[in-house]
Amino acid sequence: MSTQSATERSVYITTTIPYVNARPHLGHALEFVQADVLARHCRRRGDHVRFQTGTDDNSLKNVIAANAAGLGVREFVDANAAAFVALAGPLSLSVDDVICTSSDPRHRVGVERLWHACAAAGDLYRAHYQGRYCVGCEQFYADAELIGGQCPEHDAEPQLVSEENWFFRLSRYAGQLHDEITSGRLRIEPPGRRKEVLAFIEGGLADFSISRSTQRAHGWGIPVPGDPSQVIYVWWDALGNYVTALGYGTGADDLTRWWTAASRRVHLLGKGVLRFHAVYWPAMLLSAGLALPTDILVHDHLTVDGAKISKSAGNGIDPAALAAEYGTDALRWWLLRDVPRTGDADFTRERLVARANDELANGIGNLVHRVVAMIHRYRDGRVPDLHSRAGEDSSRTRAADSAGLDASCRDAQGRVASALADGDFRLATGPVWQIADEANRYLSRIRPWDLARAESAGDREAGHLLDRVLTTALGACEVLAGELEPFLPDAAARIGAQCASNGDGYLVRPVPLFSRLPEPE
Ligand SMILES: [Zn+2]
Repeated sequence: MSTQSATERSVYITTTIPYVNARPHLGHALEFVQADVLARHCRRRGDHVRFQTGTDDNSLKNVIAANAAGLGVREFVDANAAAFVALAGPLSLSVDDVICTSSDPRHRVGVERLWHACAAAGDLYRAHYQGRYCVGCEQFYADAELIGGQCPEHDAEPQLVSEENWFFRLSRYAGQLHDEITSGRLRIEPPGRRKEVLAFIEGGLADFSISRSTQRAHGWGIPVPGDPSQVIYVWWDALGNYVTALGYGTGADDLTRWWTAASRRVHLLGKGVLRFHAVYWPAMLLSAGLALPTDILVHDHLTVDGAKISKSAGNGIDPAALAAEYGTDALRWWLLRDVPRTGDADFTRERLVARANDELANGIGNLVHRVVAMIHRYRDGRVPDLHSRAGEDSSRTRAADSAGLDASCRDAQGRVASALADGDFRLATGPVWQIADEANRYLSRIRPWDLARAESAGDREAGHLLDRVLTTALGACEVLAGELEPFLPDAAARIGAQCASNGDGYLVRPVPLFSRLPEPE
């Protein structure tokens, strides 16, 4: 019996909520799949998990994109939001909750409560502001941050904005934020990103503007409570989603269970939005008297065919189309297995296909297929029962020693857990792949087909050994199915079905688990 209450083992996992000014691209899929792996991994070890995603609707860039498309903002935002929500199917995401910030009734009341809480703490004030604003980034830039007068992300000249805005007293929280991060209470992984945040805080934190004139926002967004001339800055609004979805504004019990009393509050995000999540958001929470996230896991960016993903480059590959073309397993495997923890990764169809063919079709698929096929060929599909065998102690038995494979199976769970705790998804796939690799080597070394031939020639001991080898290999496939589940849930289910004997101890006929993908032209 567990001595911990359910609340103590609750884990809340979020992705960032993408702008819906365009359709989803592969970079979104990376973050969704990483978060899904973590959610499935935690559920598998018995945690209560809430995995949440959503869409950032209240952005000026959504308004501009809708105008350019000749559509109403509502219609445009809803259509793109639906495309993001629909990714759960083709990517096999185990999402528990989705919040769309312009239409979800939980959101606006929660953002308003957050505003009031920070105002009550004395952290909001009105001031005149002039600065250069990039709509693409939805943020102000200091002149020193611009490159040749242009936004470093968008190669476009930010707009000069001069207006009266509401400000948040970020400067007040520098010391506290620094403590939270250096103490490890707020973990930022990988370490290079933690250093980056600490250096930013040490450089001095300036208060930041948290509202826009309603006119400049084209009337789209959440009005500032008590000041209809202003709408709330889209980042303030968007960051709030992590608690508004838990009922911060509606009074649901979820906030206690999944935020205040949760054992982990984990945000996954890309390096481009680190400052918002590791500085602005925790400061807002401190001001409002709420708990901070426990883990911020940061991924780098993907490029496609060597180029940064962007609408203008026209390389924003639709992940749903990619999953339809190559399969969900192949797409997830590339995102998890090829993308390093640090450094940008380049996607090409060739790489996806090579990885899937080498490791899924040839490696894992071939292993499971030949083990199940041998049990059918040599044992009529019945899983050998080792208990009926007498003890064996010959040199041949020792040669069939499976210590390396046994160790891979035994250690996988711990090694996966430790890699995932650091947000290193590629490292976490290693122990899983190692089971398949070791099992294939084991079969090549032991050569069960030779044992079967010797058994047919009357060598009873070879038959006993064959039983042991088949049982060991089948056991490894079952462990593989379990460990693979967070990464490739669909493939894991197929492997599990192949390895599970029905009541009378027989396996189903082997079927190919992965089809070999054709080389891209
Ligand atoms: Zn920009």
